[in-house]
Amino acid sequence: MADSAAPPAEPYDSAMAVRRIAVFGGTFDPPHIGHLIVASEVRSVGAFDEVHLVVANDPWQKRGSRLISDAGIRLDLVRRAVAGHAGLVASDREIRRGGASYTIDTVESLLAIDPSIELSVVLGVDAASRLDTWHRSSELAELVEIVVVGRPGSPDVVALPGWRSAAIDVPAIAISSTEIRERVATGRPIDFLVTDDVRNAIQEYGLYGVAQ
Ligand code: ATP
Ligand code: MG
Repeated sequence: MADSAAPPAEPYDSAMAVRRIAVFGGTFDPPHIGHLIVASEVRSVGAFDEVHLVVANDPWQKRGSRLISDAGIRLDLVRRAVAGHAGLVASDREIRRGGASYTIDTVESLLAIDPSIELSVVLGVDAASRLDTWHRSSELAELVEIVVVGRPGSPDVVALPGWRSAAIDVPAIAISSTEIRERVATGRPIDFLVTDDVRNAIQEYGLYGVAQ
């Protein structure tokens, strides 16, 4: 047999494998199925051990544009949304840190725990087009690969010179948190656009009422 002279294969030691983590940040006000499908698809296609849905404490780029729900409540919604889905993690890292939420701080704090992990940052194409306006963006570019996912209503592609980047195809879901909030405010259904647990929590907390 041709391969009889091959040396015995090294026993596979999973402890040696590099852990791959994807950081998927957002305001998640509220988390909807678009977010969840992105997280699940990216985890599978990108072979990530974990996708961290990182809830922005203070999404500084949205300041002044509207009232943003309490960060602890948004975290609770994300926890409920990912409950029972292995590899999808609701992260309170930016909330615990407090203040303005910068992805570079989140990335550096994860690398401080384990410098050997491979980190990617997941962005819809709308968010990816603003990447160069981010805090300490050139330092972030040194540390992570950007994973761009398509989003209906946004351009198909975005050029990211200076970044390591990859695109992952995800099922196109034409939904936004803005639309969910508007639906709640005007009494239209949000069934199947958010998980049942998230829909119930929106009701329990009394979020997105007409008064807002
Ligand atoms: P809002 O309408 O309040 O801005 P949103 O639906 O855009 O909410 P965010 O929390 O702003 O949600 O987005 C977090 C991340 O999720 C961003 O990278 C955004 O591009 C991505 N994203 C949100 N919705 C979708 C979707 N339907 N398909 C693909 N990516 C999405
Ligand atoms: Mg958005």
